[in-house]
Amino acid sequence: MKESLSIGSLLNEGRPLKSVEFFPPKDDAAGERMLKAAAEIKRLEPDFVSITYGAGGSTRGTSLKYARLLQEEFGFRVMPHLTCVGHSKVELGEIIDEFYEAGFRNIMALRGDPPKGETNFRPHPDGLSYANELVIHIKELHDDISIGVAGYPEIHPEAPSPADDINNLVRKVKAGATFITTQLFFDNNAYFKFVDDCRNAGIMIPVIPGILPVLSLAQVRRFCDMCQAKLPEGLENSLKAAGDDASLAQNAGIDWAHEQVRNLLGNGAPGFHLYILNRARAIRQLTERLVDEGLIASSA
Ligand SMILES: Cc1cc2nc3c(=O)[nH]c(=O)nc-3n(C[C@H](O)[C@H](O)[C@H](O)COP(=O)(O)OP(=O)(O)OC[C@H]3O[C@@H](n4cnc5c(N)ncnc54)[C@H](O)[C@@H]3O)c2cc1C
Repeated sequence: MKESLSIGSLLNEGRPLKSVEFFPPKDDAAGERMLKAAAEIKRLEPDFVSITYGAGGSTRGTSLKYARLLQEEFGFRVMPHLTCVGHSKVELGEIIDEFYEAGFRNIMALRGDPPKGETNFRPHPDGLSYANELVIHIKELHDDISIGVAGYPEIHPEAPSPADDINNLVRKVKAGATFITTQLFFDNNAYFKFVDDCRNAGIMIPVIPGILPVLSLAQVRRFCDMCQAKLPEGLENSLKAAGDDASLAQNAGIDWAHEQVRNLLGNGAPGFHLYILNRARAIRQLTERLVDEGLIASSA
């Protein structure tokens, strides 16, 4: 068992971090594809990788299995996600201990979404209601874990107002969060305004922008609908121009993500977190371009 260094200490180094997000595969075939992508991504040396946690605790075993594989077979610094959905406080404590014993020193602490088919989040009767309570729980059990929390440049869909949402973030930071990773967004102005709002509210921890290199117009519309992210006209037009050509659409998505990352790093973002949907292509192309532009160091 190898202890993974904390992302908090990496962020203190002050260089831009690159990270990617995996999700637990549904079956062995998808698992093989994910591990193939992981092997390719390894060559690009991301500073850390994260692995999401499925609804209702449904991926408890799979998340841990793949988090271990990513750490032990590929040597990644892994940040497993954890949500409050469907777990009692005691069960959450057991999972946090499992992560710790496996050597993870970074956890993304989330409330989670309601399970499929349900519209309102209902906490487990003996569970936790909000992410800030999970942050407190992790800190009580293992004070040396670096904790990421979610931030919403375009406001969490359930938040009554932007100010309420920022107040919630303040609660998560006061509870002990080390850094914030944002929900995906396609308009960098939303990120810069969000960081200003955080700073004005006294939130001084790093805010890592979450970027999705989109694959198609249908996909981006679905995501925008789900996360209430604005779809900029320029991105929509280039995806429309790609028509039914999947490869052209993917290139348009990578071009947009590249412009976003270039602008973010040029304006002081502490790195970028890519929602790669278990594929290696986008991060490979982005990394190559950013290295060529001197925005990040070569991993070779
Ligand atoms: C980077 C990132 C990673 C994610 N990874 C996963 C994952 O792995 N698995 C998964 O299922 N989902 C994941 N999600 C989605 C996330 O679980 C949902 O967005 C969820 O609806 C909110 O989670 P949260 O941790 O932000 O909740 P919270 O911070 O608890 O906030 C939830 C809502 O409650 C409000 N609120 C919080 N505290 C209070 C309070 N005390 N009183 C009143 N209102 C309050 C907030 O303003 C917000 O509207 C991720 C999201 C992001 C941005």
